[in-house]
Amino acid sequence: MKILLMGPPGAGKGTQAERLTELLKIPHISTGDMFRKAQKEGTELGLKAKTYMEQGQLVPDEVTIGIVRERLAEDDCKIGFLLDGFPRTVQQADALEQILADLGTQLDAVINIEVDKDFLLERLTGRRVCKSCGATYHIKFNAPKNENVCDKCGGELYQRNDDTLETVASRLDVYEAQTAPLIQYYVAKNLIKSIDGSQAVEKVSADICAALGR
Ligand code: ADP
Ligand code: AMP
Repeated sequence: MKILLMGPPGAGKGTQAERLTELLKIPHISTGDMFRKAQKEGTELGLKAKTYMEQGQLVPDEVTIGIVRERLAEDDCKIGFLLDGFPRTVQQADALEQILADLGTQLDAVINIEVDKDFLLERLTGRRVCKSCGATYHIKFNAPKNENVCDKCGGELYQRNDDTLETVASRLDVYEAQTAPLIQYYVAKNLIKSIDGSQAVEKVSADICAALGR
C-alpha cells in the first residue's frame, strides 16, 4: 500500500507509523528523520536543514522534494511505503504527484490524524526519542519502564531540540499556514480518511487499520 500520514506536529504520526509499517511490512519514509540523520552524520544536507529545523521553519521545498524523489525511486518502495511528514506544502504535494506518476504509481490513501491544538503542546514538550533506534515515548502518556532508557533496545532517550515551548509554537503556526491547506487538497482527490488522534494509541491504530480495510 502507498499511504500518506498527515496531521499537525505531535498528532502521533511517528508513533502510528512505527506500528503500521511493522504490520504492513512497508518502509517508513519520514523527512524529519532523514534530516535528523543527515545532521547527526554532518552531511551537507544536514547543514542545510539545521537552521530551519531549529527555528521551527520548513526546509526549502527544492531540498525536501529532492530527497523524497531519490528515496521513492529505491527498490524497497516498489511494494509500497508510508510517507510521514511529507508533503507539507502545496508545492511538495504537486511534486509528489509528479514523482509518483513518473514511477507509474499513485497514493492509495491519505490518513489525516486529527488532534485538538490544546493537546499538542503537552505531547510535544513531553516527547522523548531513543538515540539508537528512534522509538518515541512520552514522559506521561507513554513512559518507558526505566526513565530515559528505551524499552526496545536499551538506548538512551533524548529530547529533540525543536520540542521546546518556543519552537513548538512556531511549528504549529507553520502547520496551520502551510500544511493544513493540504487537507482540502486531498479531500478534493477523494483520498482523505480522518482519524480521531486524541484517543489512546491502540485505538488510533485500530481506527487507521479499519479505514485502510486491514
Ligand atoms: P508526530 O510524529 O505526529 O509529531 P509523535 O508520534 O512523535 O507525533 O507523538 C508526539 C508525542 O505524543 C510523543 O511523545 C508520543 O509518545 C505521544 N503520543 C502519540 N500518540 C499519542 C496518543 N494517542 N495519546 C497520547 N500521547 C500520544
Ligand atoms: P518532523 O520530524 O516531521 O516533526 O519534522 C521536523 C522538522 O524537519 C520540521 O519542523 C521541518 O523543519 C523539517 N521538515 C520535515 N519534513 C519537512 C517537509 N516535508 N518540508 C519541509 N521541512 C520539513
